[in-house]
Amino acid sequence: MQTYKDNKIKLFNSLHGQKETFTPLHEGFVGMYVCGPTVYNKVHLGNCRTFLSFDVINRYLRHLGYNVRYVRNITDAGHLLDNEEDKISRQSKLEKIEPMEIVQKYTQDFHKVLQMFNLLSPDIEPTATGHIVEQIELIKSLLSKGLAYEVNGSVYFDVNKYDAEGGNYGELSGRKIEDMIANTRDLDGQGEKKNPQDFALWKKASPEHIMRWISPWGLGFPGWHLECTVMSTKYLGDRFDIHGGGMDLKFPHHECEIAQAKGSHGEEPVKYWIHTNMLTLNGQKMSKSTGNTILPEELFSGNNNFFDKAFHPIILRFFFLQAHYRSILDISNEAVNAAEKGFYRLTTAIEKLPEIQPSEKSTFSVREWIDRCYDALNDDFNTPILIAHLFDISKVINNLILRNETLTLTDLNSLKEAVHAFFYDILGLKLLSDTLNDNNKLDNAMKVLIDLRNKARLEKDWALSDEIRDRLSEAGIILKDGKDGTTYEIE
Ligand code: AMP
Ligand code: ZN
Repeated sequence: MQTYKDNKIKLFNSLHGQKETFTPLHEGFVGMYVCGPTVYNKVHLGNCRTFLSFDVINRYLRHLGYNVRYVRNITDAGHLLDNEEDKISRQSKLEKIEPMEIVQKYTQDFHKVLQMFNLLSPDIEPTATGHIVEQIELIKSLLSKGLAYEVNGSVYFDVNKYDAEGGNYGELSGRKIEDMIANTRDLDGQGEKKNPQDFALWKKASPEHIMRWISPWGLGFPGWHLECTVMSTKYLGDRFDIHGGGMDLKFPHHECEIAQAKGSHGEEPVKYWIHTNMLTLNGQKMSKSTGNTILPEELFSGNNNFFDKAFHPIILRFFFLQAHYRSILDISNEAVNAAEKGFYRLTTAIEKLPEIQPSEKSTFSVREWIDRCYDALNDDFNTPILIAHLFDISKVINNLILRNETLTLTDLNSLKEAVHAFFYDILGLKLLSDTLNDNNKLDNAMKVLIDLRNKARLEKDWALSDEIRDRLSEAGIILKDGKDGTTYEIE
């Protein structure tokens, strides 16, 4: 297989609005930071699309042999609503549980969903609450440089001062400070700021605010933008290769991240900014706050008003990858059904690969086909083009079986190896028969445990039978005793 030495990736760098050749800061190593979810609610399909796009980038870089450190955070404090209420605090009041219970519950949900979509885990998954000390340190550094000011227990970043010292606020989003002033609504805390475009580094906590920490400025909590600056630079260095997130984070979140980092270290923190486009439903951005959402579980169970049936997560993964990450993608019943049909067409061909017999000569250039696949990925991770090439090869596979085309053993082996690399390793897809095999294995293992529990009950060994049930329950598997025997359900 090819390595980064054979491939020049061109990626669209949002910082400069153009495709650029990817050259990491340290040869062979890539540091990548992606803004993670705010864990106050279940992730919706739009969030999943963004994380999946970065999963393919991560997978491709690793495939090429880069030593990748992938950091994706969990925002568990500091992300405020428009009325300046903390999203997690608000949800904890609604659900009447501790904020940290909210964080735990929705972090688990997030992990479970991403696992169903077959995403690789990041190498480091830091939390905002685990880095309060570092955030306070960064604020102190900005204060000492005169780039921040304290008012009444809150600290704000001084955008004008930063700009006057050559900061170039707006460099990522292309926004001008005058426009920002005109568009800023009069929010709570606005009166404290010197200028409307200034943003909070630390907010004083009101007495009812549960999530608060002690700081040199009194009890309070950090601003949302600060956590990402602190956690990215802590684990990847003051300057690192790739920073990603959805387009909607470009401003103010990422703009503020740049300002904080440059203000503190004086260096442009990120070499390549990658922004993914939005998933829409009925032409509108999918969003938790407007309620225009579908949850992954609603799609997997078929329990929703939009789709005529349930879909396997891998079908959704395939549907997402059929669009380029920088294009808007609208999800609809027709589109996902069409993706499912295409997926089956492709996988029927892939399943037939072992049936192909080698020949004396090749009538098709496997090498050229492989090069075309790499070209697609090297062109800003163009997964739809790669998938089009996979469809081409599925026709070739059918012809090879009919012996309308032939391949030598060496070419046949490189075709199998390449299909495996592109389909499984880089696109992260699976044959549904593989998933069914996994389910069969689980069924068989559960049958063993249920039989052992029945045996324990017959022998009146209640301690053991209860232990089996309780430990399965802790593992998220619930046993149900019915008149036809015991069945199980996964929570
Ligand atoms: P949040 O938890 O709201 O901070 O969002 C987590 C990630 O999902 C961010 O990178 C957002 O930009 C991204 N995101 C939010 N809505 C959508 C959407 N409709 N389509 C694609 N990505 C989204
Ligand atoms: Zn972030």
